[in-house]
Amino acid sequence: MRLSEYFLPTVKEVPAEAEIVSHRLMIRAGLMRRLSSGTYNYLPLGLRSLQKVMNIVREEMNRSGALEIVVPIIQPAELWQRSGRDVDYGENLFHLKDRHGREMVLVPTAEEVFTDLAANEIKSYKQMPINLYQIQFKFRDEFRPRFGVLRSREFIMKDAYSFDVDAEGLHKSYMKMYDAYCRIFRRCGLEYVIVEAESGEIGGSGSHQFTVPCESGEDVTVFFEDGSRAWNLEKAPVDAMPKEKPKQVGQVEEVHTPQIGSIDDVCNFLKCKPKDLIKTLIFSAGGKTVAALVRGDHELNQEKLTQALGGGHIELADAATIEKATGAKVGFAGPVGIAGNVDYVYIDYAAAAMAVAITGANKTDYHIRNVVPGRDFPLEGKNIKVVDLRIASEGDSFEGKKLLFKKGIEVGQVFKLWTKYSDKLGAKFIDEKGEEKSSLMGCYGIGINRIVAAAIEISHDDDGIIFPVSIAPFEVIITCIGQEDKKVADVAEKIYHQLMEKGVEVLLDDRDLRAGVKFKDADLIGIPVRVTVGKNSVEKGNVEIKLRTEKKSETIEIEKSAEKVLAIINGLKDKLKV
Ligand code: ATP
Ligand code: MG
Repeated sequence: MRLSEYFLPTVKEVPAEAEIVSHRLMIRAGLMRRLSSGTYNYLPLGLRSLQKVMNIVREEMNRSGALEIVVPIIQPAELWQRSGRDVDYGENLFHLKDRHGREMVLVPTAEEVFTDLAANEIKSYKQMPINLYQIQFKFRDEFRPRFGVLRSREFIMKDAYSFDVDAEGLHKSYMKMYDAYCRIFRRCGLEYVIVEAESGEIGGSGSHQFTVPCESGEDVTVFFEDGSRAWNLEKAPVDAMPKEKPKQVGQVEEVHTPQIGSIDDVCNFLKCKPKDLIKTLIFSAGGKTVAALVRGDHELNQEKLTQALGGGHIELADAATIEKATGAKVGFAGPVGIAGNVDYVYIDYAAAAMAVAITGANKTDYHIRNVVPGRDFPLEGKNIKVVDLRIASEGDSFEGKKLLFKKGIEVGQVFKLWTKYSDKLGAKFIDEKGEEKSSLMGCYGIGINRIVAAAIEISHDDDGIIFPVSIAPFEVIITCIGQEDKKVADVAEKIYHQLMEKGVEVLLDDRDLRAGVKFKDADLIGIPVRVTVGKNSVEKGNVEIKLRTEKKSETIEIEKSAEKVLAIINGLKDKLKV
């Protein structure tokens, strides 16, 4: 490709909303342009990079035995009602109506449609195992689209869905995807960690996330220093706390705290610290009311509460439910006497270990102090349990080992869904004994655009992007200095053709521009190898070859240059081989 005929609108200025380096560089290098909040136009260079990622993903999916299909982007809302996810997915789901008033949704992920397809087509154990995938646009009305294509409202996802007859089969299918993901991210040149994860909105149990450690990531990974285990923040377990030494305290004492409900306000008013308090949160879970207790300086982990309750959808209770459970306005819930008014009480380890606490009084405008867990409210009972309920934080340990924290970008996730969707959408088959069963499902997602952005996030310098060769839009750029000099232009042209004949993806910068501008652009767009053809060197029969990762260039005879470039490219590719 000749740059004189290409569309490469590089720019110096970037919009203020581009907060992180990959976003800025993707705009500056002319890979993409914003259309509206969270949606982007991909320009030729950006699209080439995306296509390279898609090719790698497709090759590895095919290698694993998965079969590519395509399903509609616009889907009947009715399918989502049947799975219950029209509610669970909340406002992230884009809704629309067709001209007949039929409710439709724009696909954010496609479990429903794939399960429905399986329900209609896969009737016998003989048709399984099967793993179907697509590489397709997805739409999510993200609360806060940001960081360019790391969190956008429209993005390309590879999503795969496996169907198996039994747990062993599901595990095999899952591990095939797990291994394929390792190969994919390695081939894309990404350093990644695999963390144990809970399943979030998708549901089911058993999941791993593939995360690229990096400061601008929105995910937090939690790990043992020796690297033996890692989790995402929602999943990270913490040890039970040793019981604090008992303190001499008097009886429970009411304090008037007019309109003071929040932790901070209570602390200011009572001159205490958040860790002296117990927060009592009231949840609704499938018609049941649940009180969850955590220490005032800790944050409840809703995922852990969900797991403690055995799965399903939970949400913070509305004001009416809270008032009914506590007999007080919102902000004054407390553990004393709550067990009789709710269906379950779950108490975090750390709250249970406190010697004494300040809590809500279950009476509007009142708190109580001198509350001793175990004395003033029970720590066990038919509907009462002490469990791990909070989000892990700095200083916590698990199995006696210190937990460390690092930020990262989630690029992919694998899930065991078991029969969550097949039950709801009727994906049943007849097994060997002639019995009808729900098929066991797994689902597996990879964010294509996120891979490109994550690669840039971890591989760049002050001058621009440093693409791994496997996902670089081009492998080589020939920078021709002195295009007007026919001798120079001819040498550049010759090497350009020789490289193309060798199957190298090469960009020829034949634009009528100053050397400085051409070098800047070449660095900015991050092509791994640059060949500089200039007047001085051509007169001596040489050109210069420089790797984007290196500062120094190498002088090489014109005649040997194409061979040399090819060897360098092959060397770079070998490093990413699996
Ligand atoms: P997140 O927690 O970051 O919102 P998710 O866990 O909801 O992501 P999945 O449902 O697991 O995402 O989707 C599979 C993959 O799709 C993710 O691993 C990620 O790479 C990509 N992805 C998800 N949401 C977005 C988005 N808004 N923009 C770009 N890529 C996304
Ligand atoms: Mg995910």
